[in-house]
Amino acid sequence: MKMIDDIFNIFFPETCLICSQEVEIKGHLICFYCLSELPLTHFSFMPRNRLEKSFRGRIPITSASSLLYFHKKGPVQKLMHQLKYHNKQEIGTYFGNWLGEEILRNERFETIDFILPVPMHPDKQKKRGYNQVTTFAEGLSGKTKAQMLPDLLVKISKSLSQTHKNRIERNENKRIEFKLRDRIILQDKHVLLVDDIITSGSTLEGCWEPLSKVKGIKISLASIAFTV
Ligand SMILES: [Zn+2]
Repeated sequence: MKMIDDIFNIFFPETCLICSQEVEIKGHLICFYCLSELPLTHFSFMPRNRLEKSFRGRIPITSASSLLYFHKKGPVQKLMHQLKYHNKQEIGTYFGNWLGEEILRNERFETIDFILPVPMHPDKQKKRGYNQVTTFAEGLSGKTKAQMLPDLLVKISKSLSQTHKNRIERNENKRIEFKLRDRIILQDKHVLLVDDIITSGSTLEGCWEPLSKVKGIKISLASIAFTV
C-alpha cells in the first residue's frame, strides 16, 4: 500500500493550500512555513479583545473569538476563498478543531450549550450545494461537545451585497434578515453564534435580532477570521 501511496504522491503530491508547495506531512492542508506565518489573533485568551469591543452597544456578547486576522490579498483570504467558492470544506473542519481546542481551555467559553452557524438563504445554499460555515461549526461542536443546531436560524431575505447598500438600507435589511424556528430550546442557554468571516458585523446583528427575544439567552461569537 505504501508503495502505491508513494507512486501516487509523485504524480499527485499533496500541496499547501496557500503556497502550492508540497506539504511535509501527508494529510496536512498547510505547509509548516505558511502555518508559522498565519496571522493569529489569540483572542480566545484575551477578554475585552478587539472583536468583543467592535460589538459594544450592538450585541451584548459574553465572549468572542476569531482565530485569524483577515487582510485583503493575504493568505487568509486565499483560504477563505477556497472554503467558500471551491468547496474545500476540510478548511472549515481544520479551523473548527483548532478554535475548539482553544476555547475548550478557556473558562470564558466554558458554558456553551449550543452552536448556531449563520445560515445562508435556502435558495443560495441549494445553488452552491453547501454552507461554508457548516464544517467549521461541526469542528467546534466536536471539540466542545456543545450540540450544533444548523436549522434553527433561517435566513428569510436575500440581502444585496453590503457594498451596494447605504446605511439606512443596511439597517432595514438587518431587521428582516433572519428568523428563529424555536425560541424555547434556547431559553436560559449560552449560544455560540458562528460565522466564517466577521467584517462589519451586520450579519451577526441580523441574527441577534430574533435571538434577542429569547428569555435569559447568553450569546458568544466565533469565526475563522476577523477583518481589521
Ligand atoms: Zn505553504
